[in-house]
This record gives sequence, structure tokens and C-alpha cells, in this order.
Amino acid sequence: MRVTVNQDKCVSSGQCVLNASDVFDQRDDDGVVVLLDDSPADAQQDNVRNAAAACPALAIDIEE
Ligand code: SF4
Repeated sequence: MRVTVNQDKCVSSGQCVLNASDVFDQRDDDGVVVLLDDSPADAQQDNVRNAAAACPALAIDIEE
């Protein structure tokens, strides 16, 4: 799995961090997403899929 995020689309909702805090973080100043791990381990991948589905801005892309 390869993960990318689009910080220009992100609306700082935090759904990604709630679903996969090992893979996503948010900037302290404005809450915009920060990608911590662009190739998450198997154990994280369902969480990442949930994060992408929950993102209201469709700012998370996954290549399986
Ligand atoms: S869920 Fe989407 S909009 Fe919300 S912080 Fe994460 S990437 Fe940004």
C-alpha cells in the first residue's frame, strides 16, 4: 500500500488521526494533515482505508 495526502484539500477535520494515528498527524498551528508513514504495515492498512473513507475532503489517496 502507498499513501499520499493532499494538504491543499485538507480541511483539518482530524478523522484521519482518529482512525490511524500511527500514519497520520496534524500540524500544530492549523491542523492540516501530516503523513507519518507512506507505506504502512499490514496491521495499519484497514485503519488507513477507514481514514480515507472518513476524510470529508477526499484528501487521502491509497494505491493498493
Ligand atoms: S481527515 Fe482529511 S480533512 Fe481531516 S485532517 Fe485528515 S486529511 Fe485533513
